[in-house]
Amino acid sequence: MRCWVGGEEAEGMCRFCGRAVCKKHARTRAFLFETWQEPEHLRALAVEDALWCGVCQVRETPLEVDFLRANPIGKI
Ligand SMILES: [Zn+2]
Ligand SMILES: [Zn+2]
Repeated sequence: MRCWVGGEEAEGMCRFCGRAVCKKHARTRAFLFETWQEPEHLRALAVEDALWCGVCQVRETPLEVDFLRANPIGKI
């Protein structure tokens, strides 16, 4: 696998989009992998320095996906 940015040998894969990157072009950013509701707060566990390719755009604001509930994928 080759680096998406420079084409050299890749050493990891972006946690967000799956692009391969080498160490030189790799970036890091926090990745949220678990959330749960406690009586007062919504809590989360995150990896502070998850591998990020630096190319893909991680949205700052959440998406409205109510339409998924209205028409569930795979439901007969
Ligand atoms: Zn590279
Ligand atoms: Zn990426």
